Amino acid sequence: MTTTSNQAIPKRLLLANPRGFCAGVVRAIDVVEVALQHFAAPVYVRHEVVHNRRVVDDLGARGTVFVDSLDEVPDGAVAIFSAHGVPRAVVEAARARELTVFDATCPLVTKVHVEVVRYARNGWDCVIIGHRGHPEVEGSLGQFDSSFGGHVHLVETLDDVPLLPVDVNAEVGYVTQTTLSVDDTAAIIAALKVRFPRLTGPRRDDICYATQNRQDAVKAIAAMSEVVLVVGSATSSNSNRLREIAVRLGASAYLIDGADDIHPAWIAHAAVIGVTAGASAPESSVQEVIARLRVLGCGEPEEVDGVREDVHFALPGEMRLIVRG
Ligand code: SF4
Repeated sequence: MTTTSNQAIPKRLLLANPRGFCAGVVRAIDVVEVALQHFAAPVYVRHEVVHNRRVVDDLGARGTVFVDSLDEVPDGAVAIFSAHGVPRAVVEAARARELTVFDATCPLVTKVHVEVVRYARNGWDCVIIGHRGHPEVEGSLGQFDSSFGGHVHLVETLDDVPLLPVDVNAEVGYVTQTTLSVDDTAAIIAALKVRFPRLTGPRRDDICYATQNRQDAVKAIAAMSEVVLVVGSATSSNSNRLREIAVRLGASAYLIDGADDIHPAWIAHAAVIGVTAGASAPESSVQEVIARLRVLGCGEPEEVDGVREDVHFALPGEMRLIVRG
C-alpha cells in the first residue's frame, strides 16, 4: 500500500521492561489492604505508604489516614509504617503507646538498617549516601546509636566527601539509599574509598534490584527515543532518577502522574516515544498513558525486552498471624 502525503505515519511507542511496581511496594500496599479488611477504619499510615499519588488517594478513599507524625495517631488505633522505614525512636514511641503496629518497611530497607546498627555497635563512623529529608534516609539515620562512640554522616553528592569531619584512618562503614542513581552512587563510593582506606560497605551498594533494573530498562528505551515519559509522582525518588537518566542520554523526558499530565506539544515532533514507570507507579496509570498517546498519534505499543523479575516479599509476621485467623 502506498502512503499518501496526508496520511500521518504513526509514532513508535516503546515500553520499558521492567517498569512499575516492585516487590516492596506490592507488599506495602498489601499491608494496608489487609489492615483495612481486618480493622475498623480508619487505619493510620505514617507517611505516604509508597510515593504515588494514585495509590495514596485510593487507599485514602477507603479509610486510610496518612499522617506525618505518630503524634497524630489516636491511642488504641492501628498504625502502619511506610515502605521507606522509620527511625528507631518511632518504633519505640509506638511501643510505649501500645499501638497496634504493622511495619511495611521494605525488607531491602531493613537490610540497610541492619548494616547501620552493626557499624554503630562497632563504634565506627557511618556514612549514609542519600537525599536529605527523604523518609528512607531519615529512617536509616535514625538507626544509628552514637552511644558506642561513632557518628553518622549524610553524603548527598561527591562534593560532600572531602568535607566529612572524619579522620582518614578511621574505621568507616557506608550504606546507600536504595533508590539512587547507580552511576552517581558508584562515583561517590569510589571517592569514599580513596579518602578512607579502611572503608567497609555492602558487597556492592544498597541500591535495590528494582531500582537497578528500572534504570537499565530506561537506558534501553532512552537510547532509541526522542521523548521519554516516566510515570511516577514528583515525590518518588526512583522515578526522578529514571527521568534524569533519560535526559542524560539525550532524550526530552517528563515525569507525569498520569495521562492528564501529557502536553501534546511534548511529542508533536517526535517519531519515537518511550514510556516507563517508577517502582511505586501502578500499571493502570501506564495503560492510561498509552491510551492517551495512541490518541495523539502513536502506533501499537512495543514491549522492549528486559530483565524478568520474580521477587516476592511475604507479609510481616504479625500480619500473617491475623490473616490466618
Ligand atoms: Fe524495596 Fe527497592 Fe521497592 Fe524500595 S524500590 S520498596 S527498596 S524493592
